[in-house]
Amino acid sequence: MPPSTAATGSSRLNRIRTYLVPARVVNLCFLIVLVSSTLLTWREVAVLEDAYVASQRNTLDKVSSTLDRQMEIGVNALLFFRNAMRAAVQTPLASDVLKNVQAEFAQQRQLPVWRISVDQRRTLPITGVSDAFVARHPLLSRDDPQMHNEMTAALEVGYIMRLATAIPAMPKHAWYVSRAGFYLSSRPTAVSAESITRYESLLAQPWFTGQSIHDNRFRGIRWFTSKHPTGLQEPIVTVSVPLDYAQYWYGVLAIDYAYSSVKQLLAEALRDEEQGEYQLYNNNLERVVTSLPAGVQPRNFTQAQREMLTQAITLSNSGSLRLGPNFVVWQKLDHFDGILLRIQTLREGLQGDFGTISIVLALLWLLFTAMVLCSWVVIRRMVSNMYAMQHSLQWQAWHDPLTRLLNRGALFERAKALAELCQQQHRPFSVIQLDLDHFKNVNDHYGHQAGDLVLTQAARLIGGCIQGEDLAGRVGGEEFCIVLPGSTLLQAQRVAERVRERISRKEILVHNSQTIRISASLGVSSAEPSESYVFEYLQMVADKRLYLAKWGGRNRVCAVDPIQDAPNT
Ligand code: GH3
Ligand code: MG
Ligand code: MG
Repeated sequence: MPPSTAATGSSRLNRIRTYLVPARVVNLCFLIVLVSSTLLTWREVAVLEDAYVASQRNTLDKVSSTLDRQMEIGVNALLFFRNAMRAAVQTPLASDVLKNVQAEFAQQRQLPVWRISVDQRRTLPITGVSDAFVARHPLLSRDDPQMHNEMTAALEVGYIMRLATAIPAMPKHAWYVSRAGFYLSSRPTAVSAESITRYESLLAQPWFTGQSIHDNRFRGIRWFTSKHPTGLQEPIVTVSVPLDYAQYWYGVLAIDYAYSSVKQLLAEALRDEEQGEYQLYNNNLERVVTSLPAGVQPRNFTQAQREMLTQAITLSNSGSLRLGPNFVVWQKLDHFDGILLRIQTLREGLQGDFGTISIVLALLWLLFTAMVLCSWVVIRRMVSNMYAMQHSLQWQAWHDPLTRLLNRGALFERAKALAELCQQQHRPFSVIQLDLDHFKNVNDHYGHQAGDLVLTQAARLIGGCIQGEDLAGRVGGEEFCIVLPGSTLLQAQRVAERVRERISRKEILVHNSQTIRISASLGVSSAEPSESYVFEYLQMVADKRLYLAKWGGRNRVCAVDPIQDAPNT
């Protein structure tokens, strides 16, 4: 491996090693545990929420299909009235009772209001208005040649209507309003001038006008809600269907549901579904009834919530939506032109099974998180204490406590590694060996404590002269060694000279006001590529040169061997 690549690899490894300190590893592990448990809980919450939505929709589905079935009874009856009447228009019943109807009508048709009661006990009476009224009204006409058949058909259907509206499950009020100036009601009132007003107001009802060929091209049933019905105090829901035969629009059959009876139907459909509020809306999204008892304020939506709901309902026949603190599910009904809504508040949701499970889940998560956090604090503290202890032991094992420089063992170990590296990288490698001069005298004159102080000061001065990957250590009593990887002999000599000069210039305070000056002798050795990089050898050479410096008079640097050591030429 080329040296530069090896260096990059090892520096990257060092960076990873420094990054992965135990405290960081502990943090990372706990973070992973916390995030995983939170993700798991979140996933469970999502599954729970789906199950909650499904259960809400199921409940609504049950209620809405029951309500739908109730509504279907009325719709089926209405369609039955229409089919019966159509058949009767086509082939009228040849009954004696009905035979006189034509004559009776011919007699009375000019009267402002008239009534034909064939048999009061069995069928319903027909109430009509004058020819003049019919002529005035744009929607009315008595020109159809089948009109007699229509009247007898109305009387026939009146018979069924009377029976049908007596059935408990059926709406109580049914109508046939003819375009030929008469009407039939399952709840007939005495004939009077008011009957004209009544007929007039029937003609103005949307459930009548809305059945023209133009407004109802498919000629099916249509639902209407009305706040101001004729002759009734409370609002009503009306389902109506046009009666056509041979391409002619005869009139409209209708059934009224008072809001109270719709509410009754809803209450029956709910049975033991007590949680949440149900609201029935018409196709204009106006509330028809609510499942709440009278006097209790139903839940209302804000304008923005209504808009959201309208948008969602237009897109799908059934669905769910969170609107503020409410959870809403809706379902379009098949036999009513509107939707049934179930609204459940957060509080109601929490009271149910799903709420209990959610609370337990949240508490478990909180407990788990609290336990994880507590153990994190404890383990973090333990790890950092252990790390600090390990650090301090390691430092003590590698350093000299007095001078705080590397001790002999650590210096030798590191210096050897650096020498090998320099050899691999073809860089020079230098060693300086230093011994304080006459140090014994310092001890003898000023005591051991002063000697220690001198050693500390000398070490500080040595430490100040090295940089980067250079090493300095105490290798004996007052002996030091400096390792300079990458430095040539000349550069090392300069460093040694700087150290010597600084030591010799330093005035060291040993007692209160007593200062002394000391000096040091230094030996320098160096290895260039192609020479020996064995550290012990280099240190031995530097030591030899140090003693040359001593013999040469001390306070000096020696970087060469004596002349006699040079090879003889
Ligand atoms: P030279 O110039 O020849 O080196 O003379 P020197 O007196 O420095 O040489 P020597 O080897 O005779 O003395 C070294 C002294 O260093 C002996 C010892 O008392 C002292 N010494 C060694 N370690 C310590 C230490 O940790 N603290 C103190 N105060 N003195 C120490
Ligand atoms: Mg010595
Ligand atoms: Mg000495």
